[in-house]
Amino acid sequence: MRALIIVDMQNDFMPNGPLGVSGANVLIPVINQLIPQFPLVIASQDWHPANHVSFADNHPGKKIGDIIEVAGYSQVLWPVHCVQNTVGAEIVPGLATKGIQAYFHKGTDPKVDSYSAFFDNARQRSTGLEDYLRSHKVTETYFVGVATDYCVLYSVFDAVDLGFSATMVLDACAGIDLNKGDVEKSLLAISAIGGKIIQSDALFRDDCFRV
Ligand SMILES: [Zn+2]
Repeated sequence: MRALIIVDMQNDFMPNGPLGVSGANVLIPVINQLIPQFPLVIASQDWHPANHVSFADNHPGKKIGDIIEVAGYSQVLWPVHCVQNTVGAEIVPGLATKGIQAYFHKGTDPKVDSYSAFFDNARQRSTGLEDYLRSHKVTETYFVGVATDYCVLYSVFDAVDLGFSATMVLDACAGIDLNKGDVEKSLLAISAIGGKIIQSDALFRDDCFRV
């Protein structure tokens, strides 16, 4: 069983949003084409309380892009984004949400960030995605969305770690590249752990998904 996992296609990550990812809006039609190819489609949402640790505004004297230590790990400080129940946290209009069967929220703990759709960065709290995939007998996971070098990357890491086959659909992902080369490094890291990277057209070839 294969599942498409759409990572954080939310208003605040679109190019004109506070944490805009260049090219994120261009992914909408690409992802919409992929949705019908999968029997199970899931979306994650970054879903922060207003007092979230990742917001630079919550750290007097710090600015966006600064890195602080939180509970023993490095935390990049971001603009305020994806606050729970705000328009910015909503799934972007135009995405074919009719095809999405389940949503998982991440980053809900004010003290811990969560890049992965599976666990928070301290690996203390699960979003429930793993149990959901296992209960649906999913073995193959395909990741699309934003950002290639953060939330998609860490979701692929966890999927591999949990024993799923994990594939990033490259042209259905957009990266931040906060430090130039981050996206390239992410792709190398995925390959190094046994994750796969494909272009979306591979999913339309060879009738590979027909049963
Ligand atoms: Zn976030």
